[in-house]
Amino acid sequence: MPKNTIVFFLLFSFLLLLVNTGFSQQTKKLKTIIVDAGHGGTDFGAVGQYEHSLRSNEKDVTLAISMKLVAELKKQLPDLNIIPTRTSDIYQNPKEKANIANENKGDLFICIHADSGPLNTGKRQIGTHTVTRYKVSYKGKGRKRKKISKPYTAVEPLYEYFKMPLQRNGTSVWIFAAHKTSDKLKTIMNEQGQNESDFEIESGSDSAFNSFDFNTPEGRAIAQIYAKRYQEKSDRLATYVNDEVEKTNRPALGVNQRQKGIWVLQATNMPAILIETGFINNPEDERYLNSEEGQQELAESITSAVKRYKYQLENNNHASNN
Ligand SMILES: [Zn+2]
Repeated sequence: MPKNTIVFFLLFSFLLLLVNTGFSQQTKKLKTIIVDAGHGGTDFGAVGQYEHSLRSNEKDVTLAISMKLVAELKKQLPDLNIIPTRTSDIYQNPKEKANIANENKGDLFICIHADSGPLNTGKRQIGTHTVTRYKVSYKGKGRKRKKISKPYTAVEPLYEYFKMPLQRNGTSVWIFAAHKTSDKLKTIMNEQGQNESDFEIESGSDSAFNSFDFNTPEGRAIAQIYAKRYQEKSDRLATYVNDEVEKTNRPALGVNQRQKGIWVLQATNMPAILIETGFINNPEDERYLNSEEGQQELAESITSAVKRYKYQLENNNHASNN
């Protein structure tokens, strides 16, 4: 057999295997949920660093919320297997996180993060100071022209500069998407996936962490299958989380699709969402994210969303297969 035929045959068998696994999963019950506390150890994530901030680190906030979420899920869904990726302040690269999820055969992957936004610098006068300035004048004409600097002292305002806190606050939910999700899905549904130039799959900022390369035909095929199999479910859970946040009267910023920085969502063989619980450099959100009440409220909102998702999955399978 020519080499190309063998490669094609192997790839085709592999795809068939993946697709079949996918079909058997459609009727599966929700059994295992992986909760990932974003960042950790030497990876601090975002930091609250505006004037009067709590200077809290994203890695600590994500761990606290994740621990409460794990406890709440165990309490409300005692028959399920709830697995945290970390329970202490350790560093894990995205590949390790994805491996924990895949090896434990998770049915859902929930990543907990906190957002941050660019800060403006403010200034204010805190006094005056005396400075030496120079008055520059010129004497003469042509080649004889001479520059004269005459020193004088002046009293000027003294300013201090500070970072102004972010105005924006609220919770947003993210799912993985190729550059144009609807086009991508349409192409997959039309089975025109062989036109690989239609797919631009983000492969993570640090390629060393990638267990497979989304730029190879095999990698693209896997990403296509994951997207086809999980995008609808990921989107549904994300929508429920957004709904539940809305009920708490904090800004629910909607379900978004991100191409960069969420390699871990692509590499997990299950529906996966990433929750930006709040903006760590917004004062209101930073206090909320660091409070027991805020952390617990988020844990309960996410748990309610998971319960709705579970009910929908297990009682309305036909409607979800579109
Ligand atoms: Zn983060």
